[in-house]
Amino acid sequence: MAWAVNMTRACKGCGSTRALVNAHVLPHAFYARMAKADGALQHLELGRYRKKSWLGFYDPEILCSSCDNRLSILDEYGAQVLLTSFDEPARFHRDSVGRIVAIDAAHVDRDRILRFFVSILWRAALSRKGPYRNVDLHGVIK
Ligand SMILES: [Zn+2]
Repeated sequence: MAWAVNMTRACKGCGSTRALVNAHVLPHAFYARMAKADGALQHLELGRYRKKSWLGFYDPEILCSSCDNRLSILDEYGAQVLLTSFDEPARFHRDSVGRIVAIDAAHVDRDRILRFFVSILWRAALSRKGPYRNVDLHGVIK
């Protein structure tokens, strides 16, 4: 979800010239789950110094608030499915020694979760910053 408005540029989602927002590629909810006790993440990139991050990585040059808000619907579903729904022990099928051999995903809307994953790839490919600068889908997703 966007949390600040930046300079006006062409949105890479809709093409409109608008103020762009600080759009996360990986939804913020996923960063919150990975944060350390002080609330910070360790931002690591090869060849660079380790940095603390409280908000996760975002790109202020890819999406307007309208496009970012549309994607937030997918983000909420992805976070709900991936961060909470598999915490229920009844979803795990175990073998005779207790190892997890399967996870019940019958509750997951396959089309919605696939759209969520594709939206992450798409946003990563739009970004030319930080950890996503080398993501290139070669025009597969537009
Ligand atoms: Zn837009």
